[in-house]
Amino acid sequence: MNNFTDYNIKQIQNILNKLGFYNYSIDGKIGKYTINAIKKFQKKFNLKISGEIDDKTKIKLDKLSHGYVYYTIKKGDTLYNIAEKFKTKTWRILIANNNINPFLLPVGVQIIIPLDFSIVPTNIPYTYDIMKNNIYALSKRYPFMKYESIGKSIDGRELYKIIVGKGSNNVIYNGSHHGNEWITSLLLMKWIEVFLEVYSRKGSIRGYNLEDIFNYATISIVPMVNPDGVELVINGIKNIKTNTDKLIKWNNGNEFSNWKANINGVDLNRNYNAGWKKYKQLEKEWGINGPGPYLYSGSAPESESESRSMANLTRNIVTRLVLAYHSQGEEIFWQYGNLQPDISIKIGKEFAEVSGYNLASESLQQSLAGYKDWFIQDYKKPGYTIEVGKGINPLPIEQFNKIYDDNEELLLIASII
Ligand SMILES: [Zn+2]
Repeated sequence: MNNFTDYNIKQIQNILNKLGFYNYSIDGKIGKYTINAIKKFQKKFNLKISGEIDDKTKIKLDKLSHGYVYYTIKKGDTLYNIAEKFKTKTWRILIANNNINPFLLPVGVQIIIPLDFSIVPTNIPYTYDIMKNNIYALSKRYPFMKYESIGKSIDGRELYKIIVGKGSNNVIYNGSHHGNEWITSLLLMKWIEVFLEVYSRKGSIRGYNLEDIFNYATISIVPMVNPDGVELVINGIKNIKTNTDKLIKWNNGNEFSNWKANINGVDLNRNYNAGWKKYKQLEKEWGINGPGPYLYSGSAPESESESRSMANLTRNIVTRLVLAYHSQGEEIFWQYGNLQPDISIKIGKEFAEVSGYNLASESLQQSLAGYKDWFIQDYKKPGYTIEVGKGINPLPIEQFNKIYDDNEELLLIASII
């Protein structure tokens, strides 16, 4: 087998599983079941049957992991027989192709065939590369989902923003300011996928009609504010191009699971212009004098491209409310000094009720120079830091289902409350 890490094998097992070739555990180990699944896959797609992930097999797997294929309509095709051929649903084809007329299929025209499975994986660590694929694939499956990049990370990764909805009530959600909190990116991406799927079938979630929400609100979501930090935590230094020697020094070694900062060693959630100078004092008292895995606030507020891009996005939208997702603690923070509006606590109580999390007050040192602190200070509007899950970061993927369940309704009502 070529140079596959434990993690890549998990990804491969996951795709083979979705495609129906592999029904065993996603354990990242190459055993006989995985090899058999690869062989079955190769047979089905007329590839050399080796049981190994050669280049052609890898390319085919990658393509299918996007969850759609292209198909050129032939004479005599019906929507139903095309759906049958790809074992998918007719509604998926209609949505992906802007509701083509099923009774007048244009012969010779290439259409998108979404495969009949969800694409955001909830059983493997959520890397920047997977997210990037997922965003692209979701926009193909659900053409009404828009996305763009609001800037680049230090190492050149895109800072993606996804837009759900078209109403006048603007809200902003973000995740993974901190590298070892990548489960929050997965939370936001899974929520987007579920929303899009249910919305396109004119359905509702937990009693909320998604068409109403879509028309009322515009939800701008930056699922991964710190993609370099996430990359460092999940895959280590191997895909990082900037500051590699320094990073190992700042981190005191090669094991990056405690890493929160960006790859300049700046804690992005201590890099906003709210009590930044006061925080700088504290930081010095704690003996933090420069870049490191966490808590260093940088040379100036918004010194980092990631926090600056996030602040710029916020400045460009007349925003009703923001949610900044972090892990862990099952807590919701809603204050900054006493600058938040009166409604903040009321909304916070609603959030606490639907999530089961505690509405909590931060100590001074917890609440300085963060994104929600800055938002509350500059706009006097409701802003929240939500700490999902419980345990040691990075939280294990096994917590994901509970985290999703706790936050699904909160994410819905935050856009309409
Ligand atoms: Zn955090």
